[in-house]
Amino acid sequence: AKGEGRNRFSFFTPALQEAALTRVRLANDLRTALVDNQFRVLYQPIIELATGSIHKAEALIRWQHPKRGLVSPAAFIPIAESSGMIVDIGEWVFQQAAAQVQKWRQTLHPEFQISVNRSPVQFRHDDSGQASWGMQMHALGLPGEALVVEITEGLLLDTNAIVGEQLLALGDAGIKVSLDDFGTGYSSLAYLQKFDIDYIKIDQSFVRHLIPESTDLALCKAIIVMAHALGMQVIAEGVETEQQRSLLAAAGCDYGQGYLFARPISASEFETLVKMS
Ligand code: C2E
Ligand code: CA
Ligand code: CA
Ligand code: CA
Repeated sequence: AKGEGRNRFSFFTPALQEAALTRVRLANDLRTALVDNQFRVLYQPIIELATGSIHKAEALIRWQHPKRGLVSPAAFIPIAESSGMIVDIGEWVFQQAAAQVQKWRQTLHPEFQISVNRSPVQFRHDDSGQASWGMQMHALGLPGEALVVEITEGLLLDTNAIVGEQLLALGDAGIKVSLDDFGTGYSSLAYLQKFDIDYIKIDQSFVRHLIPESTDLALCKAIIVMAHALGMQVIAEGVETEQQRSLLAAAGCDYGQGYLFARPISASEFETLVKMS
């Protein structure tokens, strides 16, 4: 059997070599995953803390591998980035999300917004040959603000001219920009204003240990006050407990995302959740 062959092989190979081999195999498998329809997009609700209203979601990709089962994005996104496959995969995720937000603006909320993660590799890729996300939104009859592009702080430090041009093009199309994992990088909030960032997502690591009078609470409060002063809204990631939710709401945090509200779920589960809430 195939499983046996793999085990016998790993018996003779050092663990590191096996890990490298796994990467090569996954990179090969990624090539066919798109055409073979092995990807799915799940949606995790982003809750408005003051009202409990759900009119935003983050699109998160899942890979149902024919032999390995569900492979987490943490395992395959880096491989897709180094092999360049992320460009086509990211384009596919965007198209799924655009079709979904078009539907949900009609059925769930007229201002529904979907966030899509966009890798620095996608920003550095010269996409002048294909229709930009702004043009594709326009073709669907969607305003730019129906889409939020999630970027990481590292992208803002990239000096490649293409990156700056693409960020400007997103803004010109009315597409919103969200800064993911805030607090794990090096940028100051004042520096962010230069890039026209609309949302800050406080990283899960600051939310995880949120208790009254903690340093993490002081940090969250400072981020929220400064972001608001600069005209940005704040989303807290990884909200898992009622205490975290109420502390963030009291601190004036605009939105929350996390297992307390819902895990990433299918589009139809999402519709049920919103209709019940
Ligand atoms: P991210 O963008 O920071 O996404 C948030 C991650 O936190 C997701 O993991 C989500 O399932 C998880 N999460 C949400 N709420 C909670 C919570 O309350 N507790 C905990 N412990 N975790 C929570 P996921 O879906 O496994 O994605 C991991 C990363 O993979 C994402 O981190 C993102 O960097 C990347 N990724 C996912 N989908 C895409 C995509 O379509 N394109 C790109 N370029 N990257 C993606
Ligand atoms: Ca994200
Ligand atoms: Ca903007
Ligand atoms: Ca994040």
